[in-house]
Amino acid sequence: MEKYEILGLVGEGSYGMVMKCRNKETGRIVAIKKFLESEDDKMVKKIAMREIKLLKQLRHENLVNLLEVCKKKKRWYLVFEFVDHTVLDDLEMFPNGLDYNRVRKYLFQIIKGIGFCHSHNIIHRDIKPENILVSHSGIIKLCDFGFARTLAAPGETYTDYVATRWYRAPELLVGDIKYGKAVDIWAVGCLVTEMLIGEPLFPGDSDIDQLYHIMKNLGNLIPRHQELFYKNPLFAGVRLPEIKEVEPLEKRYPKLSAAVIEFTKRCLQIDPDKRPSCADLLQCDLFIKDDFAERFTQELKAKIQKERDHPLPKKSKISRKDKDDSGDERKMLLIQD
Ligand code: ADP
Repeated sequence: MEKYEILGLVGEGSYGMVMKCRNKETGRIVAIKKFLESEDDKMVKKIAMREIKLLKQLRHENLVNLLEVCKKKKRWYLVFEFVDHTVLDDLEMFPNGLDYNRVRKYLFQIIKGIGFCHSHNIIHRDIKPENILVSHSGIIKLCDFGFARTLAAPGETYTDYVATRWYRAPELLVGDIKYGKAVDIWAVGCLVTEMLIGEPLFPGDSDIDQLYHIMKNLGNLIPRHQELFYKNPLFAGVRLPEIKEVEPLEKRYPKLSAAVIEFTKRCLQIDPDKRPSCADLLQCDLFIKDDFAERFTQELKAKIQKERDHPLPKKSKISRKDKDDSGDERKMLLIQD
């Protein structure tokens, strides 16, 4: 690790911190993720090992590139290519939302990245604005695979894991142990409107409030999820909210186009079995209309090539604000099942 010079802190998560560093020999700028002391904390070790294992397997232009892994004095360090900023930084800069074309370009790549993970039977499980990195020329790189995991085999169940409440699908909220790729599709649905409007779609301040937000716009849970809710000891004595009048998304956000509403509603099917795959999503009007997918694929190829040839911009457009501990609910929350 001596070969790296620390330039500053770019992010802090529940299990470590991310620093911007320069390789003193090559001058290359990297992001180094330093995990907390690992030896005495089994959870941190498990998360670090999982992230390393998955990232070594997963190489794709829309996933953050792991350059090397080091261990020093009981700590694990992951060295990544440095990526300019996150979608959360964009949203902080444009609090009323990002423009439609930029959102389409981001979404297209987010879905490609998730689709690649899913094709390797890996679910990300924590898709949210701060885990979506954006390069200086607009190339998306998904990061934070600490909670990603391979799909459970039939009969196998998932144990404890951590996820951010606002992007959590109903099956996770009620404690369904049989969930799958559809949880990432749900998170994409929450992201679309947030990127366009600038406000989180379902900003619940507790798990029950989260369900209330969801049901207010999308209606009742499916019977299986209702049953699971009433069996879940975490909700003992609590009743599911009764929604007198559902406010559909098109009514809540009248300015959003029909293509956006259609896309969002497909991602936010309350029944996970009805949610589309990433491949299906890429066939939505949002991408097919005006030949966007075709045109953008060409544009993207050129951009990726250009970034390979010139990895560092002369000057970054967005300078990162110092990360403060805003205390909002985007934080990680522990689900035990
Ligand atoms: P944690 O698992 O501790 O939450 P993340 O992998 O989510 O760590 O990274 C935390 C933050 O660090 C991200 O939200 C982002 O701001 C920043 N970050 C992560 N990876 C990179 C990278 N490769 N380049 C630049 N910034 C990064």
